[in-house]
Amino acid sequence: LFNEVMRAKGNIRVFCRVRPLSDAETQAGAADSVSFPEDDGAKRHIHLQTSATGKPFAFDRVFQPDISQEEVFADVQPLIQAVMDGWNVCVFAYGQTGSGKTHTMEGSEGNRGVTVRAFEELFELAQQSWGIYSYDFKVSIIEIYNETIRDLLVKKGGASKKHDIKTNEAGQVYITDLSHATATGPADFKELMRTAGKNRSTGATKMNEGSSRSHLVMGITVTMSNKASGETLTSKLSLVDLAGSERQDKTGATGERLKESLHINKSLSALGDVISALTARHAHVPFRNSKLTHLLCDSLGNDCKTLLFVNVSPASTNLSESACSLQFAARARNV
Ligand code: ADP
Ligand code: MG
Repeated sequence: LFNEVMRAKGNIRVFCRVRPLSDAETQAGAADSVSFPEDDGAKRHIHLQTSATGKPFAFDRVFQPDISQEEVFADVQPLIQAVMDGWNVCVFAYGQTGSGKTHTMEGSEGNRGVTVRAFEELFELAQQSWGIYSYDFKVSIIEIYNETIRDLLVKKGGASKKHDIKTNEAGQVYITDLSHATATGPADFKELMRTAGKNRSTGATKMNEGSSRSHLVMGITVTMSNKASGETLTSKLSLVDLAGSERQDKTGATGERLKESLHINKSLSALGDVISALTARHAHVPFRNSKLTHLLCDSLGNDCKTLLFVNVSPASTNLSESACSLQFAARARNV
């Protein structure tokens, strides 16, 4: 019955998260331009005070600026449980640079985000049934920059390999020559995150703002084996901190910058097209139009669960970007 309900409602959820107005924005005279009409008390609506009097946007959940990382994770937890039940799950953070994507996904030491909490939860859940099953956790961390995949678990300075996306006989998508680290507990995970962070910031891009110009994709593959029967079940959790969604064309970019911008626009619109096609239940879903959607094609779709965070700034100075982000996210819900 649960699965029937899920199918009827679709497997894509959209959560909107608004960060607080920053000190810099306040000092620059920006106003708080977001409101939350609580018409049904369900915390599902957000309204932007643009000149156009639009209707409020509705999502599965709207997190106001004062909502803690812990409260946000409480609404993500069911998806982590789903991974342990055998589902492939994708969590994305979408929004302009500075809107709170990395805060939501990664967070900081004292303010940990979805990624590390998800990892701890996986181990917690595994421990609960360790007597019956044994578990294997494999982690990969990649960056997609200019439609090129970079393995962030390979020490920088090493020969950079060309990575392709392939599908095996079981229909699972994989990346050629990608390194996978076995994690035995949350501490291993932190170490992997550190390695990836180092490889990312001074990697091949030479861009100091590189992290907002590339997609970060963390994959956790869980294999559970029934100790008595030997049967195994594999599922995958993908956690994606997307490149900044800000419109690129008005910045007058040229050269490398322009090339980056075109790749970002292309891959984010490919993601939007895939999500819309899934929501509308189109027979054809255009997974192959970007590296990101291609590599996640076994984790998006009817047999999977997807959560899209749309992160927005409340500042009046960011209104047009916030409107674009909410429109992108709204497209995932009502087609
Ligand atoms: P992005 O990854 O989208 O570029 P960040 O996550 O780096 O944006 O957020 C930009 C800044 O805003 C950071 O200093 C971050 O700590 C802060 N921030 C973002 N979201 C929140 C939030 N919900 N509460 C408090 N601070 C936040
Ligand atoms: Mg970021």
